[in-house]
Amino acid sequence: MKIWHSSSSESKPCVVCGKKTGTYKVYEQTNIALKIPACNGDHYNSVDVKEMAAASISLIKKVAMRG
Ligand SMILES: [Zn+2]
Repeated sequence: MKIWHSSSSESKPCVVCGKKTGTYKVYEQTNIALKIPACNGDHYNSVDVKEMAAASISLIKKVAMRG
C-alpha cells in the first residue's frame, strides 16, 4: 500500500475536527485510491486508517470483479 500527502484547491471538512482543509492523506493499492481529508500537522498524523483502507480496497475489487 502506498500512502502519500496530496493537496488540492478543493476543500473538504477534516475527518478529525471538521474544519475545511485542502490537505488529504491518500491510501493507494492496486490502482484504487482512498482520499482522507485531514488538516496538516496533528490531525494529518493522527489519521491512521491503513488497515481499513486495505480491507475496503480489496472489497471494492471483489465486488467490481463480480460484475
Ligand atoms: Zn483537523
